[in-house]
Amino acid sequence: MNTIKVHGIAGLGIYCHIPFCLKKCAYCDFSSFSSQSEEVIRDYFEALHKEIRNFARENENSVLPAVDTIYLGGGTPSSVDARYIEKTLSLLRDVFVIRDDAEITIEINPGTLTGDRASRYKKAGINRASVGLQAWQDFLLKILGRVHSQADFIKSMEILKSSGFENFSVDVMVGLPGQKLEDVMETLRELMKFSPTHLSSYSLILEPGTPMANWVEAGQLDLPDDDEEREMHWVVDGFLKDQGFEHYEISSYCRPGYESRHNIKYWELVPYLGFGLGAHGFFNGRRYGNVNELNQYCDLLNAGNSPGVFEPVMETREMMSEWLFLGLRKLSGIRDNEFMACFGESFFVRYGDVIKPLVADGLLEWDGSVLKLTARGQDFGNRVFMAFV
Ligand code: SF4
Repeated sequence: MNTIKVHGIAGLGIYCHIPFCLKKCAYCDFSSFSSQSEEVIRDYFEALHKEIRNFARENENSVLPAVDTIYLGGGTPSSVDARYIEKTLSLLRDVFVIRDDAEITIEINPGTLTGDRASRYKKAGINRASVGLQAWQDFLLKILGRVHSQADFIKSMEILKSSGFENFSVDVMVGLPGQKLEDVMETLRELMKFSPTHLSSYSLILEPGTPMANWVEAGQLDLPDDDEEREMHWVVDGFLKDQGFEHYEISSYCRPGYESRHNIKYWELVPYLGFGLGAHGFFNGRRYGNVNELNQYCDLLNAGNSPGVFEPVMETREMMSEWLFLGLRKLSGIRDNEFMACFGESFFVRYGDVIKPLVADGLLEWDGSVLKLTARGQDFGNRVFMAFV
């Protein structure tokens, strides 16, 4: 197999999408569905398993790197019967070589986790949980349309801990309607009591057509302004660094050694496979995305077809630009000698006319070998990334 090996990581990552949630959140435009019958869920997993088996059949003569990360994301994977999770992992173990030390993550939403589920996940080899808290305050959870309360989060954390999960990440959000700096601080202070190893902090993005976007447009909800939202980001940043966390990617903080090994693959152009509704993958130098309509996904697989829409094999120029703008998401930045090892030339020479104005504008910092975002660059990340497209 034509493995693209950059930044020294050669293991294969696998993402499986589980698109079911108990209830749709007000801001969500992901491929996720609520209130689905058991029959729909069963049919979906049958289709997902067909997609995995088809891949194995089509690649039976290929030499694939061993899998070193698996990510079960959603949706809310913890909302479906644990036997679906067990079967999916068991199938992946049948068809792929999975390293003993693979990082295997499941996304969990509070209010959906039971002791039985958590201990079955553990037995199935899952060793990392990513928990969607978003905010500590019940009034904010209500505005977001989250299905859970603060009490549900506390209960889920107790279940995870008593089931032996020590490696877990928590998602929080800033820039929420009605959210104040004190709320952000309280969320962080309370979270620290559970000793997470990783924290992802996202700014609310209003996706057109979602109830949240409609309420804001109709003047029923007010968002913090850009300055307040950025202030929240920097409060999170300062607090977590004081607590010993490393800021390793624009939205990601971790205790030393607890980076999300799976997510790093997305920023380092290493191959990963995406299975399931709307899942994306990067394999053999091509990106692909699966259809994101539930019936279409199942129908395609039941008819023996692929649910993937494949892009052409990436040209070198495209790969260079992705290498740069994805790599710049990492706060450690990108190294010119690694670019040279991959592409045989210096990015500073090739992209000098893009890089120099961004450095002059205080958005990027260049020390002669490493290029990275400045603090100001983090505030205007999209402007920097788009410059390389
Ligand atoms: S839990 Fe996540 S995927 Fe499900 S509706 Fe809410 S935001 Fe969307």
